[in-house]
Amino acid sequence: MKAVIIGAGVGGLCAAHALQSIGIETVLYEQAEKPRADGAGLVLWANAVRALRQLGLDEAVEIGYAGVSGTIRRWDGLVLSNNDVKSLGEPTIAVHREDLMLTLLAKLGAAAQFGKQLASYEQDASGVTVTFADGTRASGDVLIGADGLRSRVRMQMQPNAIPKYRGYAAWRGIVTFPHTKVASMWGETWGRGARFGIVPLTRDRIYWFATANRPASTPPSDHKAELRTLFGKWHAPVSALIDETADERILYNDIADLPSLDYWIDQRVTLLGDAAHATTPNMGQGACQAIEDAVALRNALRQQARVSEALKAYQERRLDHTRKVVERSRMIGRVGQISNPMLVALRNSFMRLTPARVTQQQFDFVLSHHP
Ligand SMILES: Cc1cc2nc3c(=O)[nH]c(=O)nc-3n(C[C@H](O)[C@H](O)[C@H](O)COP(=O)(O)OP(=O)(O)OC[C@H]3O[C@@H](n4cnc5c(N)ncnc54)[C@H](O)[C@@H]3O)c2cc1C
Repeated sequence: MKAVIIGAGVGGLCAAHALQSIGIETVLYEQAEKPRADGAGLVLWANAVRALRQLGLDEAVEIGYAGVSGTIRRWDGLVLSNNDVKSLGEPTIAVHREDLMLTLLAKLGAAAQFGKQLASYEQDASGVTVTFADGTRASGDVLIGADGLRSRVRMQMQPNAIPKYRGYAAWRGIVTFPHTKVASMWGETWGRGARFGIVPLTRDRIYWFATANRPASTPPSDHKAELRTLFGKWHAPVSALIDETADERILYNDIADLPSLDYWIDQRVTLLGDAAHATTPNMGQGACQAIEDAVALRNALRQQARVSEALKAYQERRLDHTRKVVERSRMIGRVGQISNPMLVALRNSFMRLTPARVTQQQFDFVLSHHP
């Protein structure tokens, strides 16, 4: 069997490893000229760490920092909620996305081709053929669209499935900053319509993220000035992290997710990762679910000789579960981005009164899931 994968994100790379590991000839095509190296971190929760190990990708776990905290604070530092992310069997880790990409690619070797943008696909009883923007073509028995939120494969399969903006945008940055200066302030801080997160990475690096309610497609002209206005009065070391981050290391994105799809397959073609179930980042589960998809796809293709049956089994295993993750994450985002002062005060009181084990329960279905 031969597989064609579109997209060298976390999902596509893990899927390529997964399929190669069961003897499927796999070629991965990526539109970018070289591996993605943006200035962002990723939190990989215990479910993703378990899935990486199942794929034999322990190296990707080893590059992570296992000191992530689930604590949520108020803008002035008061602890609102204290989730224990250490009690999950596997560690929860944070990685620099670039480190993760390079680690995954190093194991894949020649099976990845860059500078190849998918334009369309066609299929018949004997196989599936993709056409790239440069006019070249490639064929296989199965096509996996791991091409992200604005997936071209999905657009052809389901043109009406359009990502939806959720009312807020996110900034992300990486900075080298002595961990000792951050003391125990790892975790998230929630304010009025704005949040700030501080996540430790290896080698004294810190990944931070920030969100704020704002109209779609309105990036500020000066990110740091905007961030100082939003977060300048928040507890230490928020301002210092913003100040110390080089401008070119700050990323800005509208936060969108994908309304649930009814199906992910078109005969020999399927979707994986954000292409199938892009979610808001509120549970830190987008990449984690993409890694789980790769495990589920491998298992389905190993168990079913016919491609169509295997893809049905894969969809059956993943569609409902990822829908729940997307919906839960969207709901957490709504609560996290509340801006009305009275509702914020109510939310904060509620969070302080809720026992940690109750908060933890809303993540249990994700963390204990086996793809
Ligand atoms: C602010 C923010 C914070 C986040 N934090 C976390 C977190 O802590 N933990 C977590 O698990 N997730 C997190 N996520 C989500 C995570 O980044 C995504 O879910 C994950 O990267 C999806 O991986 P993917 O491989 O499916 O898609 P992508 O990473 O989008 O990769 C798709 C690839 O396909 C390529 N491509 C697109 N179109 C074509 C084409 N036509 N031809 C060829 N190639 C194509 C793209 O260039 C890209 O390389 C966060 C997201 C955001 C926005």
